[in-house]
Amino acid sequence: MTKLTGRGVSPGVAVGRAVVAVREARQVRYRLATSGVDRERQRLRAARERTRVELEEISSRVSRTVGPAQAAIFAAQLLMLDDPLFVRRADELIRAERINGDWALERAIAELHQVFAREGDAWLRERVGDLADVGGRLQRNLRAGHDPLVDLVQELEPPLVLVADELPPSIAAQLDWTRVRGLVCDIGSPTHHTVILVRSLGIPTVIGLGGATEMLGPGQTLALDGRTGEVVVEPSSEALLGWRQRAEAAAAGLRALDELRTRPAATADGVRIRLEANLGIAEEVTRARDAGAEGIGLFRSEFLIDPAHPQTSSEEGQYDTYRQLLAAMRPLPVTIRTFDAGEERRAMARPGGHRERFGLRGIRAALQHDERFTAQMRALLRAAPSGTLRVMLPFVTTSEELRAARAIIDDIRRDLGVTADVPIGAMIEVPAAALTVDHLARQADFLSVGTNDLIQYTLAIDRTDERLAGHYEPAEPAVLRLLRTISRAGRRARCDLSVCGEMAADPLLVALLVGLGFRTFSMTPAAIPIVKRSLATYETRQATELARRAVSAASAAAVHAILEPLADAMHQAVAGTERS
Ligand code: PEP
Ligand code: MG
Repeated sequence: MTKLTGRGVSPGVAVGRAVVAVREARQVRYRLATSGVDRERQRLRAARERTRVELEEISSRVSRTVGPAQAAIFAAQLLMLDDPLFVRRADELIRAERINGDWALERAIAELHQVFAREGDAWLRERVGDLADVGGRLQRNLRAGHDPLVDLVQELEPPLVLVADELPPSIAAQLDWTRVRGLVCDIGSPTHHTVILVRSLGIPTVIGLGGATEMLGPGQTLALDGRTGEVVVEPSSEALLGWRQRAEAAAAGLRALDELRTRPAATADGVRIRLEANLGIAEEVTRARDAGAEGIGLFRSEFLIDPAHPQTSSEEGQYDTYRQLLAAMRPLPVTIRTFDAGEERRAMARPGGHRERFGLRGIRAALQHDERFTAQMRALLRAAPSGTLRVMLPFVTTSEELRAARAIIDDIRRDLGVTADVPIGAMIEVPAAALTVDHLARQADFLSVGTNDLIQYTLAIDRTDERLAGHYEPAEPAVLRLLRTISRAGRRARCDLSVCGEMAADPLLVALLVGLGFRTFSMTPAAIPIVKRSLATYETRQATELARRAVSAASAAAVHAILEPLADAMHQAVAGTERS
């Protein structure tokens, strides 16, 4: 029994068999049941034959169009297919070690790499690129057109715990999380979109375990606690019993919060606070309703973009999703954020290779790629009669951008002949926007503060960079001062104002936000009952006083010290169910 400790980012306890996925979950490793070995070998043979046909076609095309000398590259790749150390070796590994084809190929390629490197022969060394090329083609052909992890999860016996080096949100959104009960990830951060998604699905998650995919073996039994960050490998039977009791206690704690569902959220002195839900995928809407959400404060529509299934983000695909979502929440409001995506936002950053975060995203992309924005706006405006729609524009920096986007939306509205009034709002998540809320409020029907990005841009900390995770600090006085500026300007302009970043899901930080004057919060559905219970533990007067002291504190540590007495009081109220 080995114990590892990472960072718990989604509370709850899970026990299951490990499935290991590496390199953006494109390659999966698992052990086969004896009955699955022949089928796997057959899949490998079929992939080899498909690869052979493709390479023959490429070779003859290149020979015709470029010349026979260049076609020789592919003739050499064809020969590799019959090398006993390659596909045949992979076949042997499947048979002898009962491992899946993708993993067997990965192992055979790694062994060949070593042989090539050892030989010291320049010609062989040059073949390394060809080997990777043929290997990649073979692996794609093993599951032509399918996502290996998404398919695999359907095939294996649950409960499963997914161990990944990185898990892009677009893949996470497609997984069957009724079969995957827990997630362990090498890297990531609490505000990464994949983490936000699993948290809203209630999947216990531990991140920041560098090298988990190397340390944890496919098929091993894992037990994890998404609050403490503990991961136990192959627990003994007594230990397993303890883990099952822990899982039951965590579930009982959540059930105890159920009675709060229909009670309105308010502070101890009766000041009404509005609690809404953030959603990543539309099917989670029942969770939002079950948690007693008073609306959807943020639907992250970019989860609909999946290059493998373009239909989901076509105008018609979006129209269907939005219609269903609006109908499911009716008459409560549903705030749909337009795509906040560039390619770089959908993949989890690798250490040392962090993606550009200042790029063409949010409203900037909308103003440049007007086709995609137009299709989305058409789908939204057409779906509007199904419920109470609000449209929110992300990554707004200036009021000029907002004006330009509104002009485009008005054109689309005229084009469609839509007369219904759909409020258009903006996210405040860039410091420039935070400092000019007075101007933005004139162009926006509502504003919502995205603290995840606001913190990263204020502190110059990439929120997905786990090396900087310790510096990503919502309680930093600079952040609190910006939030105070937003709140004051928003109230002065009488603008409908909410907070939808992860800060709004932390009961203690919500107290600070209440003290700064915010009254509407949108959060992952699971946090709603917890925040609701915590609100009843203090009066607004107390919150205001705490916030006043916090904004003039010299450091985040001083802010935490100021919050300490309230944290203790809250702990009594939310003990056992508090978020990590
Ligand atoms: C935010 O930035 O706080 C936010 C809510 O949006 P996202 O996490 O999707 O960037
Ligand atoms: Mg954001």
